[in-house]
Amino acid sequence: MSTLSASRLKARAAELGFDRAGITRAEPSPTLDAYLRWIDAGMHGPLGYMARPDRVERRRDLSVILPGVQSLVVVALDYRGAAPAEWLTDPSRGRFSAYSWGSDYHGVMLEKLEALAAWLTRETGGAHRAYVDTGPILERSHGQAAGLGFVGKNTLLIHPRRGSLFFLGEILTTLECDAYDAPLPQATMCGSCTRCLAACPTNAFPAPHVLDARRCISMWTIEHKGTIDLALRPLFGNWVFGCDICQDVCPFNRFAPETREPAFTPNAARIAPPLVELLALDEAGFQARFAGTPVARTGRERLARNACVAAGNWGSGEALRPLIALLDDASPLVRGHAAWALGHIGGGAARAALDSAWQRETDAAARDELAAALDNRE
Ligand code: SF4
Ligand code: SF4
Repeated sequence: MSTLSASRLKARAAELGFDRAGITRAEPSPTLDAYLRWIDAGMHGPLGYMARPDRVERRRDLSVILPGVQSLVVVALDYRGAAPAEWLTDPSRGRFSAYSWGSDYHGVMLEKLEALAAWLTRETGGAHRAYVDTGPILERSHGQAAGLGFVGKNTLLIHPRRGSLFFLGEILTTLECDAYDAPLPQATMCGSCTRCLAACPTNAFPAPHVLDARRCISMWTIEHKGTIDLALRPLFGNWVFGCDICQDVCPFNRFAPETREPAFTPNAARIAPPLVELLALDEAGFQARFAGTPVARTGRERLARNACVAAGNWGSGEALRPLIALLDDASPLVRGHAAWALGHIGGGAARAALDSAWQRETDAAARDELAAALDNRE
């Protein structure tokens, strides 16, 4: 059986543009038990696919994915982009998580991973399988095992000199490696710091290293398809796609390098656009702005829903006009969240629009939102 040369593989990964690469034995994830306890506690929330028995089984045993698997190559690609600081603190803008400012990382990462896997086949033979976060692998703990960082109290993989603003990808391979990487020493861990836990606006960390997805803004704004929990909405601030707070406050991200990947260069229209623009986007406008980005999978309906919540939290009369227009949106989900926002902003114009919408609304959930918004005003 041929052996994978760690040094040659890492050199090839660097040529392909990856910022770091590590190799670990294809053993079950070191945090598998914690993951299973997390699922049992229901903390995956809207991420129902994570609890599917076939997914859990694959996490227990990587050979279910690739028979004969021996090694796991884990690669990192930095995505940090520069953004005007005043945009990021302006409540009239809708904030997008920094990972979404450029092109969709799935395509970018997968193309490079498949090129790396093809090179492996040519060089050394063997069978390989590439994954980018959709794969059933506990990638952060495997990344830690491969020496790419440590898993912080915010549950993210953090490199002690490069922070946590990077994407991960993996290649499973049937090849043995001539030099496996070692996990980073414990000394690089969080120590007594608890900034991320304290800064989370929705208290989504019941304990260090435990994220309750049922409270996380990222999960609600990106993954969740329906109505956003009423009690959580006021805590979302102006985040409309994801949330970076538990990374932004992490001291290790002070040293996070800017991306060298041209596809991740931020598009100014997608960093933190004015909420009034987001509220006014129709499907064609949404596609023009977000096609080919991670936001495209979430879709216009959910983004409009999220923008309504952010507009309600902004509380400015400048949002009235587009919100009132959304009371006639084709989506009852959007109509309901627009009603909530108008209830929060208040005033005569909002009240009149809510009253008028109440007369014509036929969807039960949207009517509930309208009724609650009208009550808000009394
Ligand atoms: Fe909390 Fe935001 Fe981090 Fe989610 S992404 S855990 S909401 S700080
Ligand atoms: Fe660890 Fe502090 Fe970073 Fe949280 S903010 S991950 S506790 S170093």
